[in-house]
Formats: sequence, structure tokens, C-alpha cells
Amino acid sequence: MPELPEVEVTRRGLLPFLPGRRIIKVMRSNKRLRSDASRPLLTRHLPGAVIRTIDRRAKYLLFRLDDGAILVLHLGMSGKLSLVAADTPRARHDHLCLGLDNGRELRFNDARRFGSILLWPSDQAKQLEEAFAAQLGMEPLGPDFTPASLLAASRARSLGVKALLMDSRIVAGIGNIYANEILFAAGLHPLTPVSGISRAQWARVVAAGRKILRAAIRAGGSTIADFLGASGHPGYFQLRFAVYKRQGLPCRCCGQSIVRTTVTGRATYFCPACQPSPGRPLQAKV
Ligand SMILES: [Zn+2]
Repeated sequence: MPELPEVEVTRRGLLPFLPGRRIIKVMRSNKRLRSDASRPLLTRHLPGAVIRTIDRRAKYLLFRLDDGAILVLHLGMSGKLSLVAADTPRARHDHLCLGLDNGRELRFNDARRFGSILLWPSDQAKQLEEAFAAQLGMEPLGPDFTPASLLAASRARSLGVKALLMDSRIVAGIGNIYANEILFAAGLHPLTPVSGISRAQWARVVAAGRKILRAAIRAGGSTIADFLGASGHPGYFQLRFAVYKRQGLPCRCCGQSIVRTTVTGRATYFCPACQPSPGRPLQAKV
């Protein structure tokens, strides 16, 4: 599943090419996605519009158009965007194709169809964007992701630290891979109850989060050239994970075997020595 770094690399890969381009044509497949703008809405607002810029919020890409409307894309589990010559044959699972005024086409391909295509018309975009933002937590690479705000968010909550990092209403955009890696780097067991985490420990989570997400974005930067090709996309960055999918292998810090368990339904990896079990662990849901 694309996580925040993949979405950010997609944004950075498209930024040199899309702003200033006019959309001249829209093709929408008739397959439903997780959430959808209707085809009439897309064909009413997109042709003729000029893409002003592309922003990212959590794992959503916001294509801001010159009339104030916003096209919102979420890549879901398997979605990818590519920019190709308009005469390139369309692929199976191409669900949205935007023909541009320079003979190229932006294509959204999503085999599993958990992605989303939304369109916020200019007269409603401001309210819709505010309502959307109100449902999302802190941006882990933004200024609000601080030890103080994590301490405040964890007060009166009884959940483990991994569940908190993955709750998009609290922290937006950290998925399973990076939650595992961040907690290893911060030396916190995934089930550590958030109510007992000190400010100094949250400071380690913030520092680890920024460092790991930025490293992943940097690693992805080298794949941008592929992504712009006919079939390529950023895919997964070949990061050297510390714990993710390394069960049974020696910890890169201490040599002890990495353990795999399940927390809130998701595969969870940790080093039992570097991330000691909290005094009163929450129950892992297996
Ligand atoms: Zn270790």
C-alpha cells in the first residue's frame, strides 16, 4: 500500500510537469472506486481547467485548478499515477485519464480499486477542504507534529503507541511499515500505553518519524525517472528496514531475534531487547 513517502514522491515527480498545463479531455472508466466523483461532475469541471499546483495532505493528493476547484486523489492499496504520451495504449485498470494540452496524459491506474477520486467544485471547495482537514490529525512532516501535541493527544486515551501513530485522526499518513520502523528507532515497544509515555520519549518518536519519512522520500527520489515512463511508478522504496518483515533475523543493533506479532490486526515487528515490553502491556489482539 502506498504510504506517505510514496505519495509525496508521486507529488514531487509530477510537480515539474503539471502546473500550468490545461486539461483538455477526461476519460473515466465505469468501474467504481472506494469513493468516487460522478462522471458528469468530472466532465463538467475538468476540461478547460488549468492545473495550478499539487498539494499533499496525509495520503491524499490535491490538484488545485485555476478556477478554485480541487481534484482529490487517494491511491488506496494499489493506485499509481503515471504521465505518458496520449497515444500510449491504455492499460487495464486505468480508471481516470486526463488528456493535457501538451499531448501527454495523466493516468490513474488502480487494480484493487480502493483508491478515491473526488472533485470539489470551486463554489464548495473551501468548505469541503475544511471539513476534510478537520478529520485528519497532525501531519508527521508538518510543524504540528511535536512532543507537546503528541503528549496532549495521548492524555486520557488508553491505547498502545503503535495504534496511536496509525490513527489518522491523530497522526495522518503513517501506515504500518513506517509505524514499525519509527517505534524501533524510538526504542518503544509497540504496545506501550500512550498514557505512560514521557515528553522525552515522544521527542524520540518525533525525531525518528521525521528522519525515517524523509529518508524514504529521498530514496524514492531516485525512482522518479522510472515513474514518469510508460509503465513505471515509484512502487516501494528499497529501504533497508530495521524490523519490518525481519522476524527471526538478528536486530541490527543488538543481535537479538526480531519478533512478529499482531497489533490491532496489523503485522507488528519489534526487537524485544531494544524495545522492552512495557510494565503492564495492553493485550495484543491476535
Ligand atoms: Zn535490538
